[in-house]
Amino acid sequence: MSKRDYYEVLGVERGASEAELKKAYRRLAMKHHPDRNPDDKVSEEKFKEANEAYEVLSDSSKRAAYDQYGHAGVDPSMGGAGAGGAGFGGANFSDIFGDVFSDFFGGAAGAGGRGRGGAQRGSDLRYTLELDLEEAVRGTTVTIRVPTLANCKTCDGSGAKKGTTPVTCTTCGGIGQVRMQQGFFSVQQTCPRCNGSGKMITDPCDSCHGQGRVEEHKTLSVKVPAGVDTGDRIRLSGEGEAGAMGGPAGDLYVVVNVREHAIFQRDGKHLYCEVPISFADAALGGELEVPTLDGRVKLKIPEGTQTGKLFRLRGKGVAPVRGGGAGDLMCRVAVETPVHLDRRQRELLEEFRKSIDGDSSHSPKANGWFEGVKRFFGDL
Ligand SMILES: [Zn+2]
Ligand SMILES: [Zn+2]
Repeated sequence: MSKRDYYEVLGVERGASEAELKKAYRRLAMKHHPDRNPDDKVSEEKFKEANEAYEVLSDSSKRAAYDQYGHAGVDPSMGGAGAGGAGFGGANFSDIFGDVFSDFFGGAAGAGGRGRGGAQRGSDLRYTLELDLEEAVRGTTVTIRVPTLANCKTCDGSGAKKGTTPVTCTTCGGIGQVRMQQGFFSVQQTCPRCNGSGKMITDPCDSCHGQGRVEEHKTLSVKVPAGVDTGDRIRLSGEGEAGAMGGPAGDLYVVVNVREHAIFQRDGKHLYCEVPISFADAALGGELEVPTLDGRVKLKIPEGTQTGKLFRLRGKGVAPVRGGGAGDLMCRVAVETPVHLDRRQRELLEEFRKSIDGDSSHSPKANGWFEGVKRFFGDL
């Protein structure tokens, strides 16, 4: 069973409220409910997937574990923070249905549990990759070390000691499912003894204690394409958790998180930066050196430039990973008041102040402001 992102399964934002989750789950569950789609395998899978996603996301502690660690955080087989949960078909089964379905189906109904036959696809794993802005913009290759469950080499993944083989489960008779009575309803559940595999290990392998899988760290090289941004995912097919009982491995999703930059703020494909300019340059005009990701460039400042003015450097932003032209770099100038003046500088400024005294044409902004103040007091 492939494990998609739970939020994606329910089609909600990561910050979705409880009510939004319930609404999304209800809509999916209604659509794919087995009672409405008899013998439809696709719907059955979708129904199970939605159940599982809702079971985790509707439980605040499981949701927190999932947000932090991905599927590994809530998959009991990984021993994550959510370990001990019985999974769908277990303790929360009736809660979900009692709550959501009571007015539609008159109570609990439906199928639960994992796929039959034992072989299960390994879970998808998530790894958060921290990148500098420069790395994200230009692309890079990084080496990461990820914890994962790998097939036990001693027993070749069977979980049984060398020379022994698993025997048929006595609880379910090898079917992997058991029927349980819940109120008026007979509910099919994954066999708790063999976890749906239909087999029992009487003589477990010493290396993996019968799990068939062992926790390992592996080192992977990840090619990060140029232009990625926070939240972008890179899928490494088959690099997730090993499957159980010979099932295929899951995928590893590398999720990008771009660190804050000392100079640039990024907004999609555009970059923003603040450039201090001197009072004299602002008044007389001048040429500034401004930083870009490709090095310094010269920027002409016209005379009479005010604080807050944005200068756009076309094409000096980020070329998005999904294509399209590069964005722009927006430089916001901030006029800096000179400090630590010596006597001569002070005299010059005093002289300057006298020279413009009483002539409001030099201060367009102050003019408008004083007009506003006058009107304000006039209105009182
Ligand atoms: Zn083993
Ligand atoms: Zn069994």
